Amino acid sequence: MVHSRKTTKYCKFLIFSLIASISASISALEEPVDKLLGGMEFANPLTIEKSEDTYRALGPSERSEIDNLCQGLSDKLNGLQIEACTNNGLYPSKITSAQGRPLLYAEVKPIFETPSNRRILLVGGQHGDELSSIKLVFSWLTQLNSSPSPNTLWRVLPAANPDGILSSRATRTNANGIDLNRNLPTPNWLTQADKYWKGKGSNERYFPGVEPASEPETQWLMQQIEEFDPDAIISVHAPLGIFDFDSNDLSIAPRTLGPLNLYLLGTFPGSLGNYAGMSRNVPVITIELKHSYEIPDTPETQHMWADLHNWLDNFSTSEALVNN
Ligand SMILES: [Zn+2]
Repeated sequence: MVHSRKTTKYCKFLIFSLIASISASISALEEPVDKLLGGMEFANPLTIEKSEDTYRALGPSERSEIDNLCQGLSDKLNGLQIEACTNNGLYPSKITSAQGRPLLYAEVKPIFETPSNRRILLVGGQHGDELSSIKLVFSWLTQLNSSPSPNTLWRVLPAANPDGILSSRATRTNANGIDLNRNLPTPNWLTQADKYWKGKGSNERYFPGVEPASEPETQWLMQQIEEFDPDAIISVHAPLGIFDFDSNDLSIAPRTLGPLNLYLLGTFPGSLGNYAGMSRNVPVITIELKHSYEIPDTPETQHMWADLHNWLDNFSTSEALVNN
């Protein structure tokens, strides 16, 4: 009995000490936290726009365009739920593809909005036959919508070449037979694009077009870059099983992204890496997944996602971003 009273007393003392130490920690934190959060706008969880509300707010014709495209993508991409396309905050752009399909984009705001938020553009499916890239970008978009980044504003273009994807047999090129990753207006395009293509055997899968930026999908991507003004671009392709990096400062490149290692492929006339990474000084990570049809398993994609975020955290303090 005496022992039990002693124990009770001791427990009360422990609880009191614990409460006192928690209160002391909170008051010690108050000032730095206030300072840290000074000037930030907080997203009120009750007023956060739900990604599915974007779709509901669209007019009937825009909704029907998105429905058609999403149904087509869901039929083509094994395992892509139609809701991952319609309920993910995607808008149709004013520019449409060569065959009139909507070019979709979504923006996912960070938890803490400030003018200095990082701005990252994530692109999938520039090549229509690399189905895994589109699925992965849809999956990362879903993840971003359910768990936004603390400090990064994302713009996501999950299907940058819808005609190529939805062609009866998916094609690398767009509906006009042009490789959209060779059609951007890089400074060397007029003198090099045709020569380079012919020098590589004139494979029609890599046809750059007869003039730069001739394609609506190219003009749209340029407009997205101009309007969004990203600090970095992540473009997902397949099936080389590496990732490439284009920037005027290669020292800031990540070394690994999950199972993928850095491998510099060089720059091509009209490519996104050349256009944004070299000419506009916006670093471009080109992820080349191992397979064109199926995405890697969840642990691998999560590992890549975590490595990308680690890189973004370090990269945000680098000279490249400050000078960008
Ligand atoms: Zn590709």
